Amino acid sequence: MPLSSLLLSRVELAHYPSTSDLGTSMPASPQGSPPSLSTPRPHIEVEGLELYYGSVPAVRGVNFNVMPGEQLTLLGPSGCGKTTTLRAVAGLEQPTAGEIRIDGLPVFSSARKINVRAEKRGLSMVFQSYAIWPHMTVFDNVAYGLQVRKVGGPEIKDRVDRALEMVQMREFGGRRASQLSGGQQQRVALARAFVFQPSVLLFDEPLSNLDAKLRADMRIELRDLQHRLGITSLYVTHDLEEALAMSDRIVVMRDGLVEQTGTPDEIYSLPHSEFVADFIGSANLIRGHHRPDLDCDGLTALETATGQLIYGMAYGRKAGPEMTVSVRTVHLRISQERPAGERNVWPVKIEKTVFQGDFSQIHLYWGDQRLVARCAAMEPIAAGRDVYMAVEPRRVVLLSPGNR
Ligand code: ATP
Repeated sequence: MPLSSLLLSRVELAHYPSTSDLGTSMPASPQGSPPSLSTPRPHIEVEGLELYYGSVPAVRGVNFNVMPGEQLTLLGPSGCGKTTTLRAVAGLEQPTAGEIRIDGLPVFSSARKINVRAEKRGLSMVFQSYAIWPHMTVFDNVAYGLQVRKVGGPEIKDRVDRALEMVQMREFGGRRASQLSGGQQQRVALARAFVFQPSVLLFDEPLSNLDAKLRADMRIELRDLQHRLGITSLYVTHDLEEALAMSDRIVVMRDGLVEQTGTPDEIYSLPHSEFVADFIGSANLIRGHHRPDLDCDGLTALETATGQLIYGMAYGRKAGPEMTVSVRTVHLRISQERPAGERNVWPVKIEKTVFQGDFSQIHLYWGDQRLVARCAAMEPIAAGRDVYMAVEPRRVVLLSPGNR
């Protein structure tokens, strides 16, 4: 079945957003005192957000800011509260408590009893199911929301043409949406969001219906477009690669709470907790107790239960008596000969090698602990073979104490 048919079969008209979901032609205008030059005011501020569905706590006290022109991603496993948070910002769900400000103005505040309607918030949302009408032309799909708002014909033409131009779909204006590929349909959904000239774009897993290759291409396209237009975006995904590739900053969520906020590099290189280390790419987690008597050269020494000594870096975190360090699988180096250097070099035994195309996953016994190393594709090393493993101490990251 061609991709376009597959995707079309997933477009559920029942999920077509109401006109109030589509955004507004009236972007929220900044008011209040002008922001200082040194610290620009965040475009979106979410403070102490809580949202219960009956007795189900979907969001339990979430805080984050999105700066003007920034792409901020809410990332986390299924059910962690990402979509609920996004929908609360959009005005599609009413929070139980907290405050949401756009351009400094509260659009929701439980304390001040403010709840601005979705269509007055100056936002547009792009959904996972593109929710475009297959029987309508591309032009009409994009124009629909403006027609509902009784915008004049010439202005509609001008705005739709510009929106289609942005997503390189202008020449497809007369084509029926059912005659488009999945990627083209998603572009139409984007144009429909742009046509409202929103000050903020909200994305709810917009690429998850696309196949892997198209998804990777669209990531780059979307990121370029977002940067070119300088639109503030709040993006929801559970896809790690997508979040790392597209975001200026990432908010990692877990069980309705924020686990860590940082740039993709910070989240990847300096995970705060075992949860983040494990969720953000593959990591080996090694537990042990601190040996302050062996700390040296700014490195922290950890001894495992079986007496293995490993040196790592605290990166400003406080070492407790019991510690966990995270070592990414890509940072473990395997060699047949003992590498030079004294620290963090150990004899290990190969358990198995799993060929994965561009790289191989090597499963190892390190004392009685099993670790995984990810190496550029190499000749398989026989199971049971004794080799050496090494890791640079700066790649051994101390997690914050008590953070699982
Ligand atoms: P996913 O990636 O699967 O969409 P998510 O992180 O976006 O997950 P949410 O959809 O925000 O998670 O859901 C958070 C929690 O709230 C989950 O436990 C979910 O079951 C619950 N929930 C979401 N919507 C409702 C609803 N309408 N009624 C009751 N519970 C809900």
